[in-house]
Amino acid sequence: MRVVLLGPPGAGKGTQAQILEENYELMHISTGDIFRQNIKNETALGKKVKAYLAAGQLVPDELTIDLIWDRLDQADCDKGYLLDGFPRTIVQAEALNDGLATRGKKLDYVINIRVDNEVLIRRLAGRRVCPECGATYHVDVKPPKVGEICDVCGTTVIQRTDDKIETVRDRLQVYETQTAPLIDFYEKQGNLITVDGSMPVDEVTAAIQNAIH
Ligand code: ADP
Ligand code: AMP
Repeated sequence: MRVVLLGPPGAGKGTQAQILEENYELMHISTGDIFRQNIKNETALGKKVKAYLAAGQLVPDELTIDLIWDRLDQADCDKGYLLDGFPRTIVQAEALNDGLATRGKKLDYVINIRVDNEVLIRRLAGRRVCPECGATYHVDVKPPKVGEICDVCGTTVIQRTDDKIETVRDRLQVYETQTAPLIDFYEKQGNLITVDGSMPVDEVTAAIQNAIH
């Protein structure tokens, strides 16, 4: 099964993907996580994309599309995947369709997780992430069990620099202009399912599971 999780920053794509990858045999592929890992390791790709992430702007399509196919063509994606943060532009969505068609495959579901901006801003302000294993927390809704220590790997959790309020506003604007048009794109394609992402985490999971069963 191949699923796209669509939604603005803070909608809960990563949170849901971390739950669903355990419930189904699917790889969770987050382009944001791949970029951040490359920045941390100071790779050539990391150096190219660092300024875009810091500014909350999108990495150019060509670079992102090459990166995603390198990843999706690996054997661990054969059984299926959850795409979190890709596609983010019409050009990327078309490249995904074309690449899948070339490989004789198709997308099964596009889950649009809808959340209002006010809620998104609160979620992003309170988000904490583990810089080592990528686990996601929230200071109020889902704090680590002990202080600021990641439950999974014991590393101190941090706030993403692009979750600071100045960058959050730019990212929400980027979402509106460049990514929101994908809702129409996939609606026309006939595989869009919209869920209310403002509900508690387990209720959003249940809504997604109902939709893909
Ligand atoms: P995205 O991957 O879409 O940017 P995340 O999954 O990282 O979003 O979630 C953003 C923040 O909101 C995190 O701190 C997460 O713990 C919290 N969160 C996610 N889903 C919910 C929910 N349904 N209700 C409340 N908080 C949530
Ligand atoms: P995310 O972790 O999904 O919030 O993504 C963090 C940042 O990575 C974004 O603000 C962009 O700078 C970059 N990014 C992630 N996915 C994409 C994509 N599909 N296209 C372009 N840039 C992306």
